[in-house]
Order: sequence, then structure tokens, then C-alpha cells
Amino acid sequence: MTISDSSASVVIIGAGQAGLSVAYCLRTLNLAPGRDFVIFDRGPGPGGAWQHRWESLRLGAAHRVNDLPGMPEVGLSFDTADQSRPAREVVAEYYRRYEEHFGLAVVRPVTVTSVADHDDRLVVSTSSEAYGERTTSTRVLVNATGTWGAPFIPHYPGAETFKGHQVHTANYVSAEQFAGQRVIVVGGGTSAIGFMLELDGIAAGLTWAARRPIDWRHSEHLDLEGAVAAVTLQDQAARAGRALPSIVSGTGVPVTPRIRQGIESGLLVARPMFTAVEPGGVRWSDGTLSAADVIIWASGFRPELRHLAALKLRAKAGGYSVEAGTSVLDPRIFFAGYGPQASTIGANRAGRVTARRIMAKLAEPDAPELPVPRG
Ligand code: FAD
Repeated sequence: MTISDSSASVVIIGAGQAGLSVAYCLRTLNLAPGRDFVIFDRGPGPGGAWQHRWESLRLGAAHRVNDLPGMPEVGLSFDTADQSRPAREVVAEYYRRYEEHFGLAVVRPVTVTSVADHDDRLVVSTSSEAYGERTTSTRVLVNATGTWGAPFIPHYPGAETFKGHQVHTANYVSAEQFAGQRVIVVGGGTSAIGFMLELDGIAAGLTWAARRPIDWRHSEHLDLEGAVAAVTLQDQAARAGRALPSIVSGTGVPVTPRIRQGIESGLLVARPMFTAVEPGGVRWSDGTLSAADVIIWASGFRPELRHLAALKLRAKAGGYSVEAGTSVLDPRIFFAGYGPQASTIGANRAGRVTARRIMAKLAEPDAPELPVPRG
């Protein structure tokens, strides 16, 4: 009986910073793209989640994207990228050139719908208009699916009765779509702050609400790697199999000159969260109502892992137990860009560590022969 249409030693799901980084590192360890490992990505083009981010988002200031490993060889660096162009265009172009230069042969647009355990193989089911429904069997799976496809909106009583428009960061297009409207922005991170700054002077009314007081940091960059506390909190939760905490709860928010201006002008003052949503607006704990036409939920994302449900890797504590990027329950499964690796610098580290561990896994006695090293 055939269990799959094709096979590869390694399947990588996702061609964002984490998936590309793993692919590059596997290639440097002599695995051939398209033969020894295959990358599936759901997106229409290169760019990972960045290709879907809103038009006004720029690189620089709070949004610093680390270079992928090997990028100097391509003659590219995000440090010198054009900050006047939308980040989504720049990142998509750089990833495209990177994929082409290293021949990473990403197969897209292909959605991984599920992964099943079949004896000693993992069977990856995919769906796409171009290739139809297919299965690929593999010894090792790298899940690098990021979070963009799993937007999170916390529950507030009455939210379903709101007569206005509710938008999550994932669906935000531009400030102009809210011109002349009364807007409530929810969230304590850089996305919420970016929306507040953009909507100032465009929205008819603007109110900011956050669950916690904003932890302003007097540095211009969101230095995720430097923010050891943030990485440690993520790591502890991942190891314990708990749901991951928000990144901003560990890093704080860097005060760029633009943000400083917003704070000093009184625009960037967050109110503690409202207690309920009503048809015409939001109700605060003091009983007052703010009338609103729009609520923008900049309330974050969760890891996108639905397609792994059949593997039953979810821990009792509600999350996935992951140590150094490897599933604790099933060492054939790697989580790149998960928890402590969920930044572009962390995703790069994921590449190095994961590729080495994959090679060790493939070298185990019951594994098929390793490919012959290329010239
Ligand atoms: P993604 O870039 O999300 O890539 C995942 C890929 O997996 C996507 O291409 C998607 O199409 C694919 N995929 C998902 N599910 C499937 C499936 N079932 N089948 C097939 N393909 C699938 N980090 C920074 O370091 N600097 C920043 O400035 C920064 N800004 C951010 C701004 C926002 C608004 C957000 C939400 C995050 C930001 N981050 C930032 C953190 C984020 O971790 C990085 O952007 C990083 O690029 C994520 O890389 P990734 O590869 O883990 O995920």
C-alpha cells in the first residue's frame, strides 16, 4: 500500500524567516532542496507573513528585521534596505532573491491541511489549486508556520452586539479606511501604537485601551534578543507546554522619537481595558460609555498549529512542549520560530540549531541513507 504520493527526508511547513533559515542551514549541511527536503508555503508569493502586513508599515524604527543567514552572499541586508518603501514589498523582494539565489525551491501556494503519524513516517497532506490534494511522507517535520494565520481577539461581554466594524491587525489595511470615524484601538504593543499614530488627525475620535500599563523602554529598537527576560519567559512557557505569553510583556515598548512626540502630545495615553462592548460603543469600569464606529483589535496572534492536531502534541497545560525547538513528545517534529525563537533573530538561530538536530536525527540507525555530499 502506498501511504503517500511522494517522499522527502525533511518537510518544512512555512517559508517565512524561520523556514527559510532552516532550509538554508540544511543546504549548507549538504541536503538538496527539492530532493532531500521540501518547503511548502501557503502564501501566494515570497515574504512569509510580511507580504500580508499593512501598506504603511516600514522597516526601521521599531520594526527591525534581521538578515537571514547567508544574506551577504546575495548582496542584501535589511540594515540598508529602503525605509521609504512598504516593509511588505521590501521583505518579499529580499526573500524572493534569497530563495532564488540558494535554489530553495519553495512549493507554493500549497496549504498543509494535516500531518498524520504512519508507523515510522509522518504523512503530510497538502491542498492547492495547482497540485490538488496530495500527500508527502517524511521522516522529519519542521513546523515554521508563524502566527499570522491565527489572530487572537480576547472575549469581552457584548462584543457580538457591536453595530460598528471590528478589525484585527491581520485585516488592517490603512488609516484612510477609518477616516471620519470614532475608533477604539485595543492592545499594548507596537502595532496598536502604530495605528494610533496613523489614525491621529484622520479618525473623528481616537481612544486607546490596553490590558496592562504600557512598559515604555528608553531605547529606539525592539531588541528582542537583548530582551533576555522576554526570551526566557517564552522559553519557560514552551518547555512547560503552557500557552505562550505575549512578547511585549517581556520586552516593553521602545520609545522612538515619533512615539515620544505622541506621548508628549497626550495622544499615546492608554486607558485600562473597557469592561463591556455595547451596540454603540464600549463601556468603561466607571460606567461611562465611549461611542464608537470601529474597534481595532491589535491584540496579538497565537501560534498557527491547527494542522498538527492529529499528532496529539498538545500538553495538558494548553500549549506545546518544545525544548530548543524540538517537540518533547515527538523528536521527529521541530518547531522553528516558536516561543523564544519568535523574532527574526530568533528565527535565524532556529535555522542553525534545528538543521544540526535534523542531521543527527537522520543519521540515526533506522534512517534512510544520507545524501552524498555535493561538491
Ligand atoms: P511567518 O513570517 O509568519 O512565516 C510563516 C509562513 O508559514 C507563512 O509564509 C505562511 O504562509 C506559512 N504557513 C502557515 N501555515 C501554513 C500551512 N498550514 N501550510 C502552508 N504554509 C503555511 N520580528 C522582528 O524581528 N522584527 C520586527 O520588526 C517584527 N515585527 C512584527 C510585526 C508584526 C505585526 C508581527 C505580528 C510580528 C512581528 N515580528 C517581528 C515577529 C515575527 O516573529 C517575525 O516577523 C518573523 O518574520 C516571523 O517569521 P516566521 O517564519 O516564524 O513566520
